[in-house]
Amino acid sequence: MPQRRLWVRDHHVWCRECVREALLEGDEPWERRSWRTGATVICSRHRRVLEEACPRCNKIGKGCLFLSDKGRVQPLCAVKGDKINLWGDASDDQLPWGLTIDRTISRCVNALSIDLCRSLVGQTLRAQWRGVSRERRLTTIIEELTLITLITIDYLPRPQPPLYWMLEQSDWKAAFHYTPAMLPTSLATCIIMLASVVLSDHQFFEDRVFLDPSEYQVACEPLTPETYVMWLHPKVRSWGQQIISAPFGV
Ligand SMILES: [Zn+2]
Ligand SMILES: [Zn+2]
Repeated sequence: MPQRRLWVRDHHVWCRECVREALLEGDEPWERRSWRTGATVICSRHRRVLEEACPRCNKIGKGCLFLSDKGRVQPLCAVKGDKINLWGDASDDQLPWGLTIDRTISRCVNALSIDLCRSLVGQTLRAQWRGVSRERRLTTIIEELTLITLITIDYLPRPQPPLYWMLEQSDWKAAFHYTPAMLPTSLATCIIMLASVVLSDHQFFEDRVFLDPSEYQVACEPLTPETYVMWLHPKVRSWGQQIISAPFGV
């Protein structure tokens, strides 16, 4: 399944509470397998966004915390070469667009993350999600929502798919899709969070999520599939029926 490889993160992420717990119990902290996939964005136990920037050097993807054996976590910074203090609060737990993680949202995001993982390996989904059919997989829908979001906020990172994946493709640009794995975890969290609401029964969520795009000074309104895109960009009243295609890396 070639698509699956695009959902693997190219850098480490972690939940500092999980790492702390293991350290306090005297265990060696290990990387959770779920942290490797872009389908997982928050820690289901601690309800917080997975971290990706080293608390010491503030860099992403330098191997900080993961210097030793494969998958073992050590509080060491690869750039500065010294210890990382994991006992302070993470600074970047703030999500854009006024979104917050409460208990209900967290449950919904977890359900979507689990089903995304199942979808990636072709297993039957546990929950019902709008628009999913035999022909349209859940991962495809999230890839489309990701693209719509990226176009709407005018942020299209340069595609950097894994080399081994590119070599497998006859035309990699045609096969390429943006996935949450390629995005900063805060942005990926927002996309998966909104998708988990939009794709589940929005009647249930109507009172739960109010859009508060302070940047745009638009009045709060309930999140529905119809308001979703408008909320991301108030000038876009509708994407219409046309097929949206993104230009390659800017
Ligand atoms: Zn955790
Ligand atoms: Zn570092």
